[in-house]
Amino acid sequence: MTLRTALLRHQKIRAYRYLYEFTKSQCSDCAKTDCACKDTICAHVEAQIRGNGLHVPTTGARLRFLGCDGCVVPPHLRETCTIYLCEPAQNRADFPAEKYRRLKEICFRIEEKLMASPPPWTEGLGPGRTP
Ligand code: SF4
Repeated sequence: MTLRTALLRHQKIRAYRYLYEFTKSQCSDCAKTDCACKDTICAHVEAQIRGNGLHVPTTGARLRFLGCDGCVVPPHLRETCTIYLCEPAQNRADFPAEKYRRLKEICFRIEEKLMASPPPWTEGLGPGRTP
């Protein structure tokens, strides 16, 4: 892994942690309304985690990643869940929409840069170099 990719990954972890703290602070009714988490989403997240060669243990709960204190998957490994905020929360009169927009934009920019980074299997390979 190049130093640039390592820094981007670190930035991604921090950015999604901020976004998670923000969205969490904007909606505390999910447990009551059951409006956000679905096991189909958990399954998608699990497939992505596996695809990246990682593993997050399931909890045995109705939703496979739901623990006593919420989701056990780190925010940067469940990007869609972290970004999501339901319409009622976003439609509140005091909702800080600009802050939400900026946080999402930061995450998108980091994702873009990571996608533009060379795949792991080519890192360190330059012209004329072989694995
Ligand atoms: S936040 Fe966690 S428990 Fe909820 S849908 Fe996403 S992965 Fe599943």
